[in-house]
Amino acid sequence: MSSNPPVLVYNELRKPRAARTKRNTVVVQVKTAGQKTEQVEVVKLEFNVFGEMLCFRIAVGQQLAGLTDLVPLARMLSTKLVSVVKRNIAGHGDSMPCRPGCSRCCRYLVPVSIPEVLCLAQEITRAAPWKRLLMSESCLLTARCVLELTPKTLLSDKFINEETPRMPGLKDVSDWYADMNLPCPFLLGNLCMIYDKRPLACREYLVTGSAQGCRPDSVNEARVVRAPVSILEALVQLTSELTGNGIETIVLPFLCVWCQDNREYAEYKWPAAYLVRRFVSILTTLDMENKEMIPLPHEK
Ligand code: SF4
Repeated sequence: MSSNPPVLVYNELRKPRAARTKRNTVVVQVKTAGQKTEQVEVVKLEFNVFGEMLCFRIAVGQQLAGLTDLVPLARMLSTKLVSVVKRNIAGHGDSMPCRPGCSRCCRYLVPVSIPEVLCLAQEITRAAPWKRLLMSESCLLTARCVLELTPKTLLSDKFINEETPRMPGLKDVSDWYADMNLPCPFLLGNLCMIYDKRPLACREYLVTGSAQGCRPDSVNEARVVRAPVSILEALVQLTSELTGNGIETIVLPFLCVWCQDNREYAEYKWPAAYLVRRFVSILTTLDMENKEMIPLPHEK
């Protein structure tokens, strides 16, 4: 059996010669940690982000992989993309107010993809006992508050009494959540307890200007900068395609409850190479679709 995880990203300096080919996928032999030779498929992913080329070589083993195996790759891609966006914003004289200790946006609705939910649940289980207890209790408490407050706010007469009655949309739901002013269950003294593992939605929430604008009760809304391609959106699309269900995302405080009720999702497996190729294909399509639509930050 292989000692490597099924999905890896090569350190550019150590990538095998064959990975430099122009083809999108190649199969190469690599040495594992135990000095055994193993065959891996190398999948190429390239983005042109604001004129800067980002090239990734994703090494995929021959084994089967689950949804959680994609999460480290998704987090790494998101980190790289966000760093390019930040450089672009700084290059045009604008600044982002985000810094350690600022948690003004941590009272918004955080949608989490199913692979991330499964991964976070595992990471919570592996945390120190005091932290595990604190995080799971906090999630349950917040989820209970959300359920108790829902009928009074979201399902109020607000939508029914409008000239044309309608179902609340995504913006309505986000506004309703922010109005509750509930701190994220992972917030401890204005610091994120899972910062390295935080959801893609938190990583991809980029704003410019003053942090005052990030408060849910602020009159001046923060200027939100959309990332050129959303890794979260790609992961959601892929999961929906693989599992064939209509679930898109889970609201963060419900992650523990959802995992308890949907244990089978952690057992689903596919060939790792298939998972990565589909993920890369969805990302590439989203990137091409967004290129036409998204103005550069300095053009807004
Ligand atoms: S997970 Fe962390 S960064 Fe995201 S909303 Fe919660 S505390 Fe904030």
